[in-house]
Amino acid sequence: MSKVIISVKDLHKKYSEFHAVKGISFDVMEGEIFGLLGPNGAGKSTTLEIIETLREKTSGEVMVDGLNLDKSPNEIKKIIGVQLQTSGFYPSLTLTELLHLFAGLYNEEVDPMALLDMVNLRDKAKSKYKEMSGGQKQRFSIATTLINHPKIIFLDEPTTGLDPQARRNLWDLIRDIRAKGTTVIITTHYMDEAEVLCDRVAIIDSGKIIALNSPDKMIDELVATGFERPKEVKKANLEDVFIQLTGHELRAG
Ligand code: ADP
Ligand code: MG
Repeated sequence: MSKVIISVKDLHKKYSEFHAVKGISFDVMEGEIFGLLGPNGAGKSTTLEIIETLREKTSGEVMVDGLNLDKSPNEIKKIIGVQLQTSGFYPSLTLTELLHLFAGLYNEEVDPMALLDMVNLRDKAKSKYKEMSGGQKQRFSIATTLINHPKIIFLDEPTTGLDPQARRNLWDLIRDIRAKGTTVIITTHYMDEAEVLCDRVAIIDSGKIIALNSPDKMIDELVATGFERPKEVKKANLEDVFIQLTGHELRAG
């Protein structure tokens, strides 16, 4: 397989007395979509923000593309793309204006139309950020992570609050980004999302990794223990019905 691009060893984070991350270790391979999965409060965002250089760790070692987090945080910043919380965008600027603004922060030239094409928002170039739907705002915030041509992008619960069409659309976008060679780390608490999107997932609970594998292998291991679903699984679920009835097309709303 390909090379390790992120290596986390025995990572701990304490918020004063509270031990939020309790000795997490994992590797992310170049070019994969890696999921951090877990319930609210598990420590996903804390872990992500430490790797992103946005939060101090208490102890442990983090390497990103051969760079040590303690020694080279600024070099790491240059090769990663971080999705800002949506509140970080000036509501009355247009998407084009916002892209120029962010590009200036990175000291990069941007082609706003190429970026907006990538996330299927070309026709919204002149629209204000506040006029976007939830799904459009998420797609736009993913576009901003690509400004500096990063090797790795970090997405923290990018599909939370989106309707089924917008979620599927975002999955396609994330796959497109990976297909161009970018490594993706994503957090989610949706198991269906991790199952269809991630090459490998780490399940985090109360600050510890309790499982790490491909979704397929995790399911096989569970089945091998003799586990069976209590009732026969149908060939479709209610979400399939919903998508079948309402279609895949994105809604403006
Ligand atoms: P997740 O993203 O998995 O929901 P977080 O990493 O945000 O989890 O939080 C992990 C734990 O750390 C939670 O119990 C949360 O309340 C706590 N926590 C997060 N940030 C802070 C902070 N700045 N100060 C104190 N506790 C925090
Ligand atoms: Mg979080």
